[in-house]
Amino acid sequence: MTHPYDDTNVFARILRGEIPNATVLETEHTLAFDDITPQAPVHVLVIPKGPYVTYDHFCAQASEAEIVDFARAVARICDERGLAAGEGFRAIANAGGHAGQEVPHFHVHLVAGRPLGPMLAG
Ligand code: 5GP
Repeated sequence: MTHPYDDTNVFARILRGEIPNATVLETEHTLAFDDITPQAPVHVLVIPKGPYVTYDHFCAQASEAEIVDFARAVARICDERGLAAGEGFRAIANAGGHAGQEVPHFHVHLVAGRPLGPMLAG
């Protein structure tokens, strides 16, 4: 997969402060905010501040500092939202057309708060 980054995407606009967001956590390299169309009682999006399109792009090209910061942010959200100690959660990272990725800026969905059904539908 190639990774041309389109900085007009909605998450780039959120990072530039052009559109508001309900921030859950902000760190040096990472921003987390509530999904605008939540699919579960908890639905947080975690994004790097850098211009990465997909999970593999982030893992291949991000600095170690960015990767560690992102991973620790996920852990903090799981802790602070009670996901780690609760009934569990799902982390989803869609990439590309078959996965139905809508926003071409890498993000992990953290969803929780209800039974989440089978891992894949269809
Ligand atoms: P994807 O399909 O790319 O994995 O998921 C994109 C997610 O971004 C969707 O769950 C959608 O509801 C969310 N989203 C799209 N636009 C906005 C927005 O302007 N603000 C927020 N908070 N979430 C958005």
